[in-house]
Amino acid sequence: MTDAGDVEADLRRQLLSTAQRLPIIGLSAAATGNVSVRCGDDLLITPSGIDYAELQAEDMVRLDATGRVSDGQRRPSSEWRVHRDLYRARPEFGAIVHSHSACATAIACQRRAIPPFHYMVIRAGGHDIRCAEYATFGTQQLSDNVATAMAGRSACLLANHGQIAAGPDLPGALRLAWEVEELARQFCYTLQLGEPVLLDDAELARVSAQFRDYGQQC
Ligand code: 13P
Ligand code: ZN
Repeated sequence: MTDAGDVEADLRRQLLSTAQRLPIIGLSAAATGNVSVRCGDDLLITPSGIDYAELQAEDMVRLDATGRVSDGQRRPSSEWRVHRDLYRARPEFGAIVHSHSACATAIACQRRAIPPFHYMVIRAGGHDIRCAEYATFGTQQLSDNVATAMAGRSACLLANHGQIAAGPDLPGALRLAWEVEELARQFCYTLQLGEPVLLDDAELARVSAQFRDYGQQC
């Protein structure tokens, strides 16, 4: 196999194992949600409507930048436009996870953003996690609404639908999707106790600076 063939085969395996972790860590059940990874100028994405448990590496669909699928492949995720448009607009994104995780979806069904009630909100790139305006799943309008909500951010909620998170690679995108769900769960609990106390811009700037020197730094 060529080097490019090796890279694609490896990405297909990584994409499969990432998609199959979604139900295990409570991010999406059955066939809801979808995952993609950048592959050169193209992208690899999960196929539409197949249960995660039944997926094989060869089911992953390769799309070019126009959304063209070569013959003999499965039908791509119905949300391929969202993924294609985000890769086009944001060169720093190498992978994207879309999920219908329960708590993020509960907040998205109220069409609210997640405000800075907890410092971890900054992980999505800004002072809140916005909620994209509603549009029917699988439409260009949904992709356009996601692009607006993702400006300067790497995650957002989707009204009456779920959440989307992006990262430099598959582990990064999956981790952020998981963090968004955890924040959403904490926000739901907080709301049950009353109005949360929000962090102000000055504190969020300190949090942002602190994260620049956080972790293993290697
Ligand atoms: P696909 O199975 O087509 O990816 O659709 C799932 C989904 O979450 C649509 O928003
Ligand atoms: Zn969806």
